Amino acid sequence: MKPNSEDSTLFPILPAEAEIPKGVDRRAFLMRSAVISAAAVLTGCERPKEEAAPPPVAQTPKPKPAAMSPDLNVVAQAKGPVMTVIDEFYKVGPGPSSSHTIGPMRITYDFYQRCTKLPADQIAKATGLKVHLYGSLSATGKGHGTERAALAGLLGKEPATIDPLFLDELAKNPTTPHPLKLGDKTFNLSLADVIYDAPKGDFPHPNTMTCKLMAGDQAVYELEYYSVGGGFIEWKGYQPPKKGQPKYPYSTMKELRKHAEDNKLSIAQVMLANEVAVSGKTEAEINAFIDKVSGAMVAIVKSGLAAQEAVLPGPIKLHTKAATVYKRAMEEKYQSDRGIALVAACALAGSEENARGHLVVTAPTGGSAGVMPAIVYALGEGARKLTQEKIRQGFLTGAAIGYLCKHNATLAGAEGGCQAEIGVASAMSAAFVAAAYDSSPQVVENAAESALEHHLGLTCDPVAGFVQVPCIERCAFGAVKAWTAYMIASNEVETRHRVDLDTTIESMAETGRDMGAKYKETSEGGLAANLTLC
Ligand code: SF4
Repeated sequence: MKPNSEDSTLFPILPAEAEIPKGVDRRAFLMRSAVISAAAVLTGCERPKEEAAPPPVAQTPKPKPAAMSPDLNVVAQAKGPVMTVIDEFYKVGPGPSSSHTIGPMRITYDFYQRCTKLPADQIAKATGLKVHLYGSLSATGKGHGTERAALAGLLGKEPATIDPLFLDELAKNPTTPHPLKLGDKTFNLSLADVIYDAPKGDFPHPNTMTCKLMAGDQAVYELEYYSVGGGFIEWKGYQPPKKGQPKYPYSTMKELRKHAEDNKLSIAQVMLANEVAVSGKTEAEINAFIDKVSGAMVAIVKSGLAAQEAVLPGPIKLHTKAATVYKRAMEEKYQSDRGIALVAACALAGSEENARGHLVVTAPTGGSAGVMPAIVYALGEGARKLTQEKIRQGFLTGAAIGYLCKHNATLAGAEGGCQAEIGVASAMSAAFVAAAYDSSPQVVENAAESALEHHLGLTCDPVAGFVQVPCIERCAFGAVKAWTAYMIASNEVETRHRVDLDTTIESMAETGRDMGAKYKETSEGGLAANLTLC
């Protein structure tokens, strides 16, 4: 199903091909049409035979993958079928980063819970707790509030329910000690207990950290953890939780689409059947979770638009602007301009909430947390008013794309650059729109592919380590590109789409491996190296 003229408030239907829009120069219009037609012929593979088969490129040796411990589940898991489920994927927590804020907070909360179960004599010896941050967590953690999130988790605060004001308070009063009761003992912990350790070294994962229960300068209990992207965590010796087998096993988009087409199902229906089989939850429970996430995303956009504009924390002194962009967009003369600007404003709103350290939903990460909420808001109560059933279809289908990217590439900017964050968010969102409009599985794939393809190579270079520049505007581009990808996919001849999603995901993984370390969330390259801060 495609949008009808009634829901054209944001995105009016384009004029018929032969019509020359008013106010547009006829010659320029016809020239452009001719170029487009020529391109269609070319992409229709009507080249002479001798040109049709380019020389094979297989001789080019493939670059060696960057070192990552094969012991990590996130690496080993790539060999079987996708086993991720929706409540692991869409996680609520404080911004600004899923891997540098939510992940570390989940890690220290996990360590806190383990400590509460330790034998009394072990706790009796302890004098304090320490957290050491390594690799990218150490390089850019300060701008991501990693130390605050890590301390909050250690104090027994959960990411999904923490009051962001508590984190603000930690930032305002960094030396204030906070009591932590373990057994009969009370420890006074402060930000000084979270140590920014070696930023470079041979770590099992770029986001490695250790948590220690100390007795003087000796650890009486310690565990090494990894924040592996998108808020997912692992630890040394991690074993994934036992799950059921998927009804429709897949590890590629090709396999997923085949299940849908062979069984005359939508991608969302295949996903729902798998969610039930793998998680053991009922459809009603899964839908209730999706509705909660959907409600949270709408609330994030609304609070971002309602927030008073101000300068964000950090050395960039960046002014927020979502509300102004939204207000001015409403006055745009042309509906199409208004549509683009409104979607962009909603994405800015979500991303600014993330930069404030307020609660966001990882879709797939904190840095990209403005992209999908903009789409959800525009399709739902913000403009198109699609039913919640259509929104659920979008969430399940978007998740499928995110799972595949996690399974076959990465969701971490520290591992794959920004293509793995905003690129994946955009691909998920393009699939979301396509699914919400009942597009075929092929159109869903084409939309996701197109969105991801045009983020390939995107580097991660957050200025001063803060998830603000380029991240906030990048969310807006991710959302607009998602819609563009859907518009192309739903208007092209779907079987002629030349590039499949699996190839693009593989290309993203390979590009990420080849990308220089300074472009992978270390704030040593690109804008981070060149923007003058004063
Ligand atoms: S540049 Fe992209 S990947 Fe890097 S922190 Fe910002 S949003 Fe995340």
